[in-house]
Amino acid sequence: QNQVFTFGGGTAEGDKSMKELLGGKGANLAEMSSIGMPIPPGFTISAKICKYYNEHDGQWPEGLKYEIQDSIQQLEELMGQQFGDPEDPLLVSVRSGAAISMPGMMDTVLNLGLTDQSVQGLAQKMDNERFAYDCYRRFIDMFGDVVMGVAHEKFEIALQKLKDEKSVELDTQLEVDDLKELVDRYKKVYKNNTGEDFPQDPDDQLRLSINGVFGSWNAKRAIKYRKINKITGLLGTAVNVQAMVYGNMGDDSATGVCFTRNPSDGKSELYGEFLINAQGEDVVAGIRTPRDINELKEVMPDSYDELLELTNQLEEHYQDMQDIEFTVQQGKLFILQTRNGKRTGAAAVKIAIDMVDEGILKKDKAVANLVEPGHLDQLLHPQLKEDEIDENDILGKGLPASPGAAVGKVVFDSDIAEEEHGKGNPVILVRIETSPEDVGGMSAAEGILTSRGGMTSHAAVVARGWGKPCVAGCDGINIDYDKQQFTAGDVTVRAGDWISIDGARGTVINGKKEVEAPQFGDNFRTFMTWVDEFRDMDVRTNADTPEDALRAREYGALGIGLARTEHMFFGEERIREMRRMIISESEGERRSALENLLPYQREDFIEIFEAMEGLPVTVRLLDPPLHEFLPDEEKEVKTLAKELGISTAELNRKIRLLSEFNPMLGHRGCRLGITYPEITEMQARAILEAAVEVKSRGKEVYPEIMIPLVGTAEEFIHERHVVDEIAEDVFAEKGSEVDYKVGTMIEIPRAALIADKIADEADFFSFGTNDLTQMTFGYSRDDAGKFLEHYLNEGILKNDPFQVLDQEGVGQLVEMGVTKGRAAKSDLKVGICGEHGGDPSSVAFCYNLGLNYVSCSPYRVPIARLAAAQAFL
Ligand code: PEP
Ligand code: MG
Repeated sequence: QNQVFTFGGGTAEGDKSMKELLGGKGANLAEMSSIGMPIPPGFTISAKICKYYNEHDGQWPEGLKYEIQDSIQQLEELMGQQFGDPEDPLLVSVRSGAAISMPGMMDTVLNLGLTDQSVQGLAQKMDNERFAYDCYRRFIDMFGDVVMGVAHEKFEIALQKLKDEKSVELDTQLEVDDLKELVDRYKKVYKNNTGEDFPQDPDDQLRLSINGVFGSWNAKRAIKYRKINKITGLLGTAVNVQAMVYGNMGDDSATGVCFTRNPSDGKSELYGEFLINAQGEDVVAGIRTPRDINELKEVMPDSYDELLELTNQLEEHYQDMQDIEFTVQQGKLFILQTRNGKRTGAAAVKIAIDMVDEGILKKDKAVANLVEPGHLDQLLHPQLKEDEIDENDILGKGLPASPGAAVGKVVFDSDIAEEEHGKGNPVILVRIETSPEDVGGMSAAEGILTSRGGMTSHAAVVARGWGKPCVAGCDGINIDYDKQQFTAGDVTVRAGDWISIDGARGTVINGKKEVEAPQFGDNFRTFMTWVDEFRDMDVRTNADTPEDALRAREYGALGIGLARTEHMFFGEERIREMRRMIISESEGERRSALENLLPYQREDFIEIFEAMEGLPVTVRLLDPPLHEFLPDEEKEVKTLAKELGISTAELNRKIRLLSEFNPMLGHRGCRLGITYPEITEMQARAILEAAVEVKSRGKEVYPEIMIPLVGTAEEFIHERHVVDEIAEDVFAEKGSEVDYKVGTMIEIPRAALIADKIADEADFFSFGTNDLTQMTFGYSRDDAGKFLEHYLNEGILKNDPFQVLDQEGVGQLVEMGVTKGRAAKSDLKVGICGEHGGDPSSVAFCYNLGLNYVSCSPYRVPIARLAAAQAFL
């Protein structure tokens, strides 16, 4: 197989499907070449080689050298120039590009091929000395920085010194002779820091640069970015070697980046920025302030029209919004790169709807590809309360780089942001601008504020990708890292002070403001109806209050998959009765306390059944061990003893008696109901009386009573028997019946192993993957944090198994439970109500196993709906 893939001149050896080998950039360059886009020709070295290089101590595999030579030759033929020709040198760029885009993480070298000799040839050929030397000094800087590890700052210092000596402010004000001088100084910086002369053989330059890109795959910041974004399983980065085109050849040249639609709100318009007489790096690095793409229409109308035409073509070809880099060289437009653009949740939904309306793609494709579950998460983000905001509190306005409201204490340093976040303190990371070194702090912060940089600056791009609120380029604030403060007019804000930011409006507000729940627009609603057209697995919610139930219903939940009844005992009076029940010495005492609890429970269930009118509601009987309801602080114990009319010593004895070494494996779940059947009786009665009551009000109810922590069929049979007897009593007393079901959680590994026996008795299963994960791994749900972080860092685990279902292990038990259960009862209803019910990859897994529904917290219901539809598509 090829190690190197050429593209250009209307053909290519690769295509867009080959991202794994060619990286996103390489695959799309190949694709663009094949569809006739004006791209500079070149070739891509496969990511497989990067893997080989990093596993073989920097060696190249056999034959690579010759494949590269051949590809260079092909490139020379297409360009009519020779690599290393001193008169008319072929210059190339060398860029990284992995299968998953990692903005700003990997490195680029431009103008490669220039030497002391060929810079003169270039000057003559282009009839532009200034341009040639500008290219050369950029090349020395980038090559030194990226390939040889000489800090870019060292070159910056030399540049600033020269500018000071010449009393000029802008790079562009330097004369030709100044640039020649600068090249000499840069070469000295290079030699002082590397101990070697700047390489004068283009083949050496190329080899070293390719190795530099390969090596950058394992740079600290790249590893960190992959970790934060959970990017695993890639071979490495591909390397793209491409003929140079120049945006810095004068005022008829330019370089820029643009999106085919607005990535912030989704509006259909060309969106982006450009710089006249500049090279690509100038835009991304935020050194010069770029101009709005709409101004290109005025300064280069022909190029603008062509750009619009080509970008539309690209969007239609890829059936997705594109993020494009382009260069105009002396009036001729080149596309350097295209990829699916990152966008906010609101933009994703609007773009999906608009592109279907415009006939670019069909609904199914839009649902499958244009909105990620995480995008919906953003739409559900909190917003600042508008009337809370006093004009006088507004410290400044920047770019609305990424929507959502964030409130936190100001920190200026990424490490401190991580530290404070670790202590549980919300922080806003405030930086002049961010760099890839800051990703840890950005990830830890609630929101990000920068005083410099545009909508495509590092901070903006990364924050949008994460759905993290960000205000960028807020130049009204003046940041002083030394003093650890920023000023806005005459207000000084110090590290540790509270601020609030509104990433949708771009405002920075003094103080700790209140936030409110998001409101969905029509686009969201429309999109969700499309989602439901392709979804054939139900989504329910985990909810214990009527408020949560109603919210989840609004988000599209088709029932409650788990109501945890233990959450219903926390009111002041009910907890007292609960505690009286717990410390009872005799069944009689316990029954009398339970009798007092019954009306509370019944009332709760009535409200929940009414909120979920017409939909199934799974109520789980009491689960946690009893000591969880008793106080552990001495003072509280005293008060409680007084309330219950017993001595403190007596209460302490009770508490000691009930406390367990490993409560997660202790006296909880059905073990409680079996040892104290009166608890099951009371709860079953409350549920069924409530159901009868709600039915008598003319509403449909579908109660499903769920027995927790079952490990043997006998446990289930015992509990089911208690419930059925109570049902008979209640229906006889009320003279009215309701349909009800009795099912079980499958959350103990043994239950999955004997699922067929349990299914003989049960009406439904619901996988409690929280406990199932805990018991299968043998990790305590409460304490696993102590080592999980380490496991994730070391790659021992790919994901926290309490967030993302471990398909390989725990998944086998789920599969076995479904298969055995349905073998015994073919129409057995099966769902999942562990945390994993709201995790997209786990939802897809459940769909593939044929589950009837997933159940998750209200805010994740839309996400699970989309994940279910995408699993179907
Ligand atoms: C479970 O174990 O997955 C579950 C849903 O129940 P809980 O988290 O209440 O134990
Ligand atoms: Mg459980």
